[in-house]
Amino acid sequence: MAIQPIRLFGDPVLRATAKPVTVFDKELRTLVRDLTETMLDAPGAGLAAPQLGVSLRVFTYHVDGVTGHLINPDLSLSEDEQEGPEGCLSLPGLRYDTKRAYGVVAKGFNMYGDPVTLEGTQLLARCIQHETDHLDGIIFIDRLDREQRKAALKAIRDTDWGGGPAPVVKASPHSTFGAAR
Ligand SMILES: [Zn+2]
Repeated sequence: MAIQPIRLFGDPVLRATAKPVTVFDKELRTLVRDLTETMLDAPGAGLAAPQLGVSLRVFTYHVDGVTGHLINPDLSLSEDEQEGPEGCLSLPGLRYDTKRAYGVVAKGFNMYGDPVTLEGTQLLARCIQHETDHLDGIIFIDRLDREQRKAALKAIRDTDWGGGPAPVVKASPHSTFGAAR
């Protein structure tokens, strides 16, 4: 088990569409363990594989004291919506009210390749939607309205990590801080 550096906003891996997992092997289980360790250490409510630089459809969650993971998620969203504060370990320190479906049923697989269904409402539903977005190259500020998104991008430029290379950047060989905006 190892805590890995978390890729920050601006890293192209966060904009890529992650590939489905086809091989459920030891390497995948190591990835799930690394995601879990890194998420709990951060700490965060969820972490997606692209945030560790791995473009595979895998995420972990830690909500209401329950820790788990889901591979190749396929979501069904409730019509009811919720609005509440959301943040991301790839945009440290920033939180914005974000609209999400109130409930989610997520079908996928565990790290052994067994089919599993993860159901949640409120915070767990928000987390599942946020992490699945990461697998499609979507970052939560993309879900904000135009004005809010502009404010978020400005706030990112004003952070100590968003305006140029920050100490964590050395963890990312593909960082394009500044260039990707
Ligand atoms: Zn995130």
